[in-house]
Amino acid sequence: MKQRDRLRIAAQKSGRLSEAGRDLMARSGLRFRESRDRLFCYGEVEPVDLLLVRDDDIPGLIAEGVCDLGIVGRNVLLEQQLEYVQRGEVAPFQELRRLGFGRCRLALAVPSEFVYQDPTSLAGCRIATSYPALLSDWLRKQDVQAEVVTLSGSVEIAPKLGKADLICDLVSTGATLAANQLREVATLLESEAVLAAPAELMLDDRQTIVDRLIKRLDGVLQVRDSKLIMLQVDRSALDQVIHLLPAANAPTIMAIDGSEQAVALHALCRGHFSWQQLEDIQRAGARGVMILPVEQMLA
Ligand code: ATP
Ligand code: MG
Repeated sequence: MKQRDRLRIAAQKSGRLSEAGRDLMARSGLRFRESRDRLFCYGEVEPVDLLLVRDDDIPGLIAEGVCDLGIVGRNVLLEQQLEYVQRGEVAPFQELRRLGFGRCRLALAVPSEFVYQDPTSLAGCRIATSYPALLSDWLRKQDVQAEVVTLSGSVEIAPKLGKADLICDLVSTGATLAANQLREVATLLESEAVLAAPAELMLDDRQTIVDRLIKRLDGVLQVRDSKLIMLQVDRSALDQVIHLLPAANAPTIMAIDGSEQAVALHALCRGHFSWQQLEDIQRAGARGVMILPVEQMLA
């Protein structure tokens, strides 16, 4: 691997992962000078530069040693990892962290008239996809023989055009499938944006920069997933309410001046509260429930 003293991160130039990716880097303390070609952005605070590319190119750039980290969908990373495996080689990149945005799934979807019971219903079918390695790998594991039709885009219209009997494509809300009268029948992979890195440690200063960035990133991810819940509850219902909290650690219970029965509770919680969860907590006896975002945290 070439010796360099500045780190290079590859990220999607424009697309579903670009905005959240830039936001994550900014929160990790990275600032970049916009370049004229908007392809290479020089890092202003840290010795970390940014390369803006198509998402499909990111694993390859890491493999060639042109970039040291990448923000890319797990679907793209695994697809290219499997290409190496299917050639009998070891992929020179790996998933370092899940980043919690760009969530979607690689799923099989069939036209309304298609009768699907289980994977054996796919025997002899033509399946259109942009993820041939992931699909072939799944078919092999299911012990099903089907034809993989590789398309680079507009996979969802392949059945209508008679190019395939069904599709294997990325789905998030399912709106595209519904618009094309396709029904989701199986999930092959749960995906989200991930931080990709070389499979091997770097032998120069860049590894130290990577280690520092990862620590910051972990802090950012932890805060983003954390919420502070505040509420009041009678002691008699306390256990029941605590039981409903996705608490990260033991809640703080405080006495309320002038009240024998009620206490105040603060708890750091992981993840997002749904309205349903809040209603359950209220029904269990909590009053004045408040959810607050956590700005910064030192563990
Ligand atoms: P590029 O021009 O960089 O090649 P693209 O068209 O291949 O862009 P996008 O459509 O921007 O890529 O998707 C990037 C990533 O976003 C996907 O690889 C996937 O990980 C994630 N993603 C999240 N939801 C969806 C979805 N509904 N459809 C497709 N990708 C999704
Ligand atoms: Mg792409």
